[in-house]
Amino acid sequence: MIVKPKIKGFICTTAHPAGCEESVHLQAKYAKSNPVKSPKRVLVIGSSGGYGLASRIMACFGGKADTIGVHFDKEPIGTRTGTAGFYASRAFDRFAQKEGRISYSINGDAFSQDIKNKTLEAIRSIPGGQVDCVVYSLAAPRKTDKSTKKVYNSVIKPIGKPFEGKTVDINTGEVSLAKIEPANITEIEETIAVMGGDDWKEWIELLLQNNMLAHGACSIAFSYIGPEQTHAIYTNGTIGRAKLDLEYTADKLSKKMKCIDGKAFVSVNKALVTQASSAIPVVPLYISLLYKVMKEKNLHEDCIEQAHRLFDCLYGNSNHDWEHVQVDEKGRIRLDNLEMREDVQAKVKELWNDISSDNLFELSDIQGYRNSFLKIFGFNIPDIDYESDIDIT
Ligand code: NAD
Repeated sequence: MIVKPKIKGFICTTAHPAGCEESVHLQAKYAKSNPVKSPKRVLVIGSSGGYGLASRIMACFGGKADTIGVHFDKEPIGTRTGTAGFYASRAFDRFAQKEGRISYSINGDAFSQDIKNKTLEAIRSIPGGQVDCVVYSLAAPRKTDKSTKKVYNSVIKPIGKPFEGKTVDINTGEVSLAKIEPANITEIEETIAVMGGDDWKEWIELLLQNNMLAHGACSIAFSYIGPEQTHAIYTNGTIGRAKLDLEYTADKLSKKMKCIDGKAFVSVNKALVTQASSAIPVVPLYISLLYKVMKEKNLHEDCIEQAHRLFDCLYGNSNHDWEHVQVDEKGRIRLDNLEMREDVQAKVKELWNDISSDNLFELSDIQGYRNSFLKIFGFNIPDIDYESDIDIT
């Protein structure tokens, strides 16, 4: 069938199999021509999109690592395409296996015991039965508690007072004021339960209990800080609380991992167009301005370049001496240093003050945003014939 993008709000309900495959191929090509020192057996939780997929690609094709990926994607049914991550993971496995790498992709809910058990089984089957690195890159809207079956929902809301700030409707190009009521205590707690460190801790403890973390292993979870304009909705809001919890968890996990000379890190990454970030009010407008400024200054990076810097920072000089990894005063890896550069932020702020529906195309890289958004779903990828019939199974 012919597959076209069907955009509803901030999601696209279709994905193009060949486009998703090509997107993995292009990132793998980048990784191969920009090799990194990386661990040799890597588990990525949240492996089918954005930062998790890029980390997996970089470890495998840039660092020759065997990888296990855990992701949550829909398979195609009838005339409904699968989700982008379904096609991307399948393509990844094929490309990796072609290079002689072990590659297992486990599709299901990472919060569930069933998927945790399946992952342990997969690790057991790789040489040595251990992993050296665990990348935790989940961006989930909800989690079901394993024992109580209670469902926790993650929300993106301010805390304490209502938020009012500029936002853009990416489809219509209309810039308006977003008004969001503050979260109540339950919403804050539930967001922390979903996006905080609980599940990361569970995974690492499980791997330790089963002797599946190799000596000197490390684990990384991703966070975001960003500029003042987004603080009320992000850093100081519900999701920021969850990220703070991630930081506390990194400290706790580092203590637990001392027995294997391991360490847990939080890496603060750059704002990029992904399925997760497009759902956050205000952020798409900020990213459109950021892309404009960073591209003009030749500083723009995508997930794959960030993944390269991540492994370089962790393994480039340290030789598993985790104390020598460059971190900020709170112990966090900062891959957002270019985004947060003073000149970049000053320019973004200036544009932010002036931006409106009338000058959106002139002042921002809204076109670049839209293009990146479509690429997530396998559209607008060079050399793909979107007019041809494609098998979506
Ligand atoms: P994404 O939406 O591109 O990817 C999320 C991944 O999580 C997908 O592979 C998805 O299948 C998986 N996932 C979701 N729920 C799952 C579940 N229940 N079980 C198994 N897998 C599940 O998101 P992203 O933007 O790459 O975000 C990854 C992490 O990076 C998040 O912690 C996010 O906060 C952080 N981060 C993102 C940005 C950004 O701008 N995108 C910036 C800094 C940090």
